[in-house]
Amino acid sequence: MSADGTDSDAGRQYFLPNKRGRVFLLSLEDVMGRSALHVALGHAKLRHRINNYPPANLDLGWCFEEMSALQQALEEIHGERAGQAIAVRAGRASLYYIQQDLSAVLGLDDRPFRLLPLVPRLRAGLGALADLSNKTGDEVVRLEEADDQFLFHVDRCPVCWGRAAEKPICWTEVGLLQEAMFWVSGGRNVAVEEVQCIAQGSPSCSYAVQKHPLD
Ligand SMILES: [Zn+2]
Repeated sequence: MSADGTDSDAGRQYFLPNKRGRVFLLSLEDVMGRSALHVALGHAKLRHRINNYPPANLDLGWCFEEMSALQQALEEIHGERAGQAIAVRAGRASLYYIQQDLSAVLGLDDRPFRLLPLVPRLRAGLGALADLSNKTGDEVVRLEEADDQFLFHVDRCPVCWGRAAEKPICWTEVGLLQEAMFWVSGGRNVAVEEVQCIAQGSPSCSYAVQKHPLD
Protein backbone atom coordinates (compact mmCIF):
# COMPACT_ATOMS: atom_id res chain seq x y z
CA MET A 1 0.00 0.00 0.00
CA SER A 2 1.05 3.61 -0.23
CA ALA A 3 3.91 5.22 1.64
CA ASP A 4 1.67 7.52 3.67
CA GLY A 5 0.39 4.58 5.69
CA THR A 6 -2.92 3.97 3.97
CA ASP A 7 -2.49 0.27 4.80
CA SER A 8 -3.71 1.15 8.28
CA ASP A 9 -6.72 2.97 6.83
CA ALA A 10 -9.21 0.43 8.08
CA GLY A 11 -9.39 1.68 11.64
CA ARG A 12 -9.52 5.37 10.83
CA GLN A 13 -12.35 7.61 9.85
CA TYR A 14 -11.86 9.82 6.80
CA PHE A 15 -13.84 12.78 5.58
CA LEU A 16 -14.76 14.78 2.54
CA PRO A 17 -15.80 18.42 2.62
CA ASN A 18 -19.48 19.06 3.38
CA LYS A 19 -19.86 20.51 -0.08
CA ARG A 20 -18.93 17.19 -1.68
CA GLY A 21 -21.69 15.42 0.23
CA ARG A 22 -24.15 18.17 -0.60
CA VAL A 23 -23.27 18.03 -4.29
CA PHE A 24 -23.69 14.24 -4.34
CA LEU A 25 -27.10 14.45 -2.66
CA LEU A 26 -28.31 17.26 -4.94
CA SER A 27 -27.11 15.30 -7.99
CA LEU A 28 -28.91 12.16 -6.85
CA GLU A 29 -32.02 14.27 -6.31
CA ASP A 30 -31.71 15.56 -9.90
CA VAL A 31 -31.44 12.02 -11.24
CA MET A 32 -33.91 10.03 -9.13
CA GLY A 33 -36.18 12.60 -7.47
CA ARG A 34 -36.32 13.67 -3.85
CA SER A 35 -38.58 10.95 -2.48
CA ALA A 36 -36.54 8.09 -4.01
CA LEU A 37 -33.41 9.69 -2.58
CA HIS A 38 -35.03 9.81 0.85
CA VAL A 39 -35.79 6.09 0.57
CA ALA A 40 -32.13 5.45 -0.32
CA LEU A 41 -30.94 7.57 2.61
CA GLY A 42 -33.18 5.59 4.96
CA HIS A 43 -31.91 2.31 3.54
CA ALA A 44 -28.31 3.47 3.95
CA LYS A 45 -28.99 4.30 7.62
CA LEU A 46 -28.50 7.98 6.82
CA ARG A 47 -31.95 9.08 7.92
CA HIS A 48 -30.39 12.07 9.73
CA ARG A 49 -29.46 13.49 6.31
CA ILE A 50 -33.05 13.58 5.04
CA ASN A 51 -33.94 17.26 4.53
CA ASN A 52 -30.68 18.01 6.30
CA TYR A 53 -28.00 18.03 3.62
CA PRO A 54 -24.49 19.08 4.57
CA PRO A 55 -23.92 22.83 4.08
CA ALA A 56 -22.05 24.23 1.07
CA ASN A 57 -18.74 24.71 2.85
CA LEU A 58 -15.36 22.98 2.97
CA ASP A 59 -15.55 21.77 6.60
CA LEU A 60 -14.83 18.05 6.79
CA GLY A 61 -18.28 16.79 7.72
CA TRP A 62 -19.18 14.14 5.11
CA CYS A 63 -17.51 10.86 6.01
CA PHE A 64 -16.34 8.16 3.59
CA GLU A 65 -18.83 5.69 5.12
CA GLU A 66 -21.75 7.91 4.12
CA MET A 67 -20.57 8.14 0.52
CA SER A 68 -20.08 4.40 0.26
CA ALA A 69 -23.27 3.38 2.12
CA LEU A 70 -25.35 5.45 -0.25
CA GLN A 71 -23.78 3.84 -3.33
CA GLN A 72 -24.47 0.42 -1.85
CA ALA A 73 -28.08 1.37 -1.07
CA LEU A 74 -28.67 2.34 -4.72
CA GLU A 75 -27.61 -1.14 -5.82
CA GLU A 76 -29.58 -2.92 -3.09
CA ILE A 77 -32.80 -1.01 -3.78
CA HIS A 78 -32.70 -0.79 -7.58
CA GLY A 79 -30.58 -3.85 -8.42
CA GLU A 80 -26.95 -3.81 -9.39
CA ARG A 81 -27.29 -2.59 -12.98
CA ALA A 82 -29.91 0.09 -12.41
CA GLY A 83 -28.26 1.24 -9.18
CA GLN A 84 -24.95 1.63 -10.96
CA ALA A 85 -26.62 3.50 -13.83
CA ILE A 86 -28.11 5.95 -11.33
CA ALA A 87 -24.66 6.41 -9.78
CA VAL A 88 -23.11 7.19 -13.18
CA ARG A 89 -25.83 9.71 -13.99
CA ALA A 90 -25.47 11.34 -10.57
CA GLY A 91 -21.71 11.55 -11.11
CA ARG A 92 -22.31 13.26 -14.45
CA ALA A 93 -24.89 15.61 -12.92
CA SER A 94 -22.51 16.58 -10.13
CA LEU A 95 -20.20 18.40 -12.54
CA TYR A 96 -22.80 21.17 -12.81
CA TYR A 97 -22.33 21.95 -9.12
CA ILE A 98 -18.53 21.97 -9.14
CA GLN A 99 -18.00 23.62 -12.53
CA GLN A 100 -17.35 27.02 -11.00
CA ASP A 101 -14.69 25.62 -8.66
CA LEU A 102 -12.98 23.83 -11.53
CA SER A 103 -13.24 26.84 -13.84
CA ALA A 104 -11.39 28.91 -11.28
CA VAL A 105 -8.52 26.39 -11.15
CA LEU A 106 -8.44 25.90 -14.92
CA GLY A 107 -8.93 29.44 -16.15
CA LEU A 108 -11.46 27.89 -18.49
CA ASP A 109 -12.92 31.18 -19.57
CA ASP A 110 -9.51 32.45 -20.59
CA ARG A 111 -8.78 32.51 -24.27
CA PRO A 112 -5.50 30.53 -23.95
CA PHE A 113 -7.28 27.51 -22.46
CA ARG A 114 -9.90 27.52 -25.17
CA LEU A 115 -7.17 27.51 -27.79
CA LEU A 116 -5.31 24.54 -26.34
CA PRO A 117 -5.38 21.23 -28.24
CA LEU A 118 -7.44 18.39 -26.84
CA VAL A 119 -4.84 16.40 -24.89
CA PRO A 120 -3.53 19.36 -22.85
CA ARG A 121 -7.14 20.25 -22.04
CA LEU A 122 -7.81 16.72 -20.76
CA ARG A 123 -4.55 16.80 -18.79
CA ALA A 124 -5.49 20.14 -17.22
CA GLY A 125 -9.01 18.96 -16.42
CA LEU A 126 -7.83 15.78 -14.72
CA GLY A 127 -5.13 17.72 -12.87
CA ALA A 128 -7.71 20.21 -11.60
CA LEU A 129 -9.99 17.41 -10.38
CA ALA A 130 -7.05 15.71 -8.62
CA ASP A 131 -5.99 19.01 -7.04
CA LEU A 132 -9.46 19.79 -5.84
CA SER A 133 -9.77 16.34 -4.23
CA ASN A 134 -6.34 16.33 -2.64
CA LYS A 135 -6.63 19.84 -1.23
CA THR A 136 -10.12 19.70 0.20
CA GLY A 137 -10.49 16.30 1.88
CA ASP A 138 -8.99 12.93 2.81
CA GLU A 139 -9.33 11.44 -0.67
CA VAL A 140 -5.88 10.77 -2.20
CA VAL A 141 -5.56 11.14 -5.97
CA ARG A 142 -2.64 11.03 -8.40
CA LEU A 143 -2.40 11.32 -12.14
CA GLU A 144 -0.26 9.18 -14.42
CA GLU A 145 0.16 9.58 -18.16
CA ALA A 146 0.89 6.99 -20.84
CA ASP A 147 1.00 7.29 -24.64
CA ASP A 148 -2.68 6.67 -25.32
CA GLN A 149 -4.30 7.34 -22.00
CA PHE A 150 -4.25 9.03 -18.64
CA LEU A 151 -4.58 7.00 -15.47
CA PHE A 152 -6.45 8.75 -12.70
CA HIS A 153 -5.56 6.84 -9.53
CA VAL A 154 -7.56 7.23 -6.34
CA ASP A 155 -5.38 5.71 -3.62
CA ARG A 156 -7.88 6.38 -0.84
CA CYS A 157 -11.39 6.18 -2.23
CA PRO A 158 -14.61 7.23 -0.49
CA VAL A 159 -16.91 5.74 -3.14
CA CYS A 160 -16.21 2.05 -2.41
CA TRP A 161 -14.98 2.57 1.17
CA GLY A 162 -15.26 -0.66 3.18
CA ARG A 163 -16.94 -2.58 0.35
CA ALA A 164 -15.83 -5.77 -1.39
CA ALA A 165 -16.70 -6.63 -4.98
CA GLU A 166 -15.55 -8.81 -7.85
CA LYS A 167 -15.67 -5.97 -10.38
CA PRO A 168 -14.96 -2.23 -10.11
CA ILE A 169 -17.88 -0.40 -8.48
CA CYS A 170 -17.02 3.30 -8.28
CA TRP A 171 -19.59 4.32 -10.88
CA THR A 172 -20.24 7.80 -9.60
CA GLU A 173 -16.58 8.65 -10.18
CA VAL A 174 -16.78 7.24 -13.72
CA GLY A 175 -19.73 9.57 -14.39
CA LEU A 176 -17.95 12.58 -12.95
CA LEU A 177 -14.82 11.93 -15.02
CA GLN A 178 -16.88 11.36 -18.20
CA GLU A 179 -18.75 14.62 -17.81
CA ALA A 180 -15.64 16.57 -16.82
CA MET A 181 -13.82 15.32 -19.93
CA PHE A 182 -16.86 16.13 -22.11
CA TRP A 183 -16.81 19.64 -20.72
CA VAL A 184 -13.08 20.46 -20.93
CA SER A 185 -12.88 18.94 -24.43
CA GLY A 186 -15.68 21.17 -25.69
CA GLY A 187 -18.19 18.36 -26.19
CA ARG A 188 -16.16 15.31 -27.22
CA ASN A 189 -16.99 11.86 -25.84
CA VAL A 190 -13.91 10.60 -24.07
CA ALA A 191 -13.86 6.97 -22.92
CA VAL A 192 -13.46 6.53 -19.17
CA GLU A 193 -13.23 3.10 -17.60
CA GLU A 194 -12.48 2.04 -14.03
CA VAL A 195 -9.82 -0.59 -14.66
CA GLN A 196 -9.22 -1.65 -11.08
CA CYS A 197 -10.93 -1.00 -7.76
CA ILE A 198 -9.89 -1.11 -4.11
CA ALA A 199 -13.09 -3.12 -3.48
CA GLN A 200 -11.47 -5.93 -5.53
CA GLY A 201 -8.35 -5.82 -3.41
CA SER A 202 -6.40 -3.53 -5.78
CA PRO A 203 -4.15 -0.85 -4.26
CA SER A 204 -6.11 1.95 -5.93
CA CYS A 205 -9.30 2.74 -7.80
CA SER A 206 -7.85 3.54 -11.21
CA TYR A 207 -9.58 5.08 -14.20
CA ALA A 208 -8.24 4.90 -17.74
CA VAL A 209 -9.10 8.06 -19.65
CA GLN A 210 -8.43 7.71 -23.39
CA LYS A 211 -6.68 10.53 -25.20
CA HIS A 212 -8.48 9.83 -28.49
CA PRO A 213 -12.19 10.65 -28.26
CA LEU A 214 -14.86 8.21 -29.42
CA ASP A 215 -16.34 10.74 -31.83
ZN1 LIG B 1 -13.28 3.09 -5.22
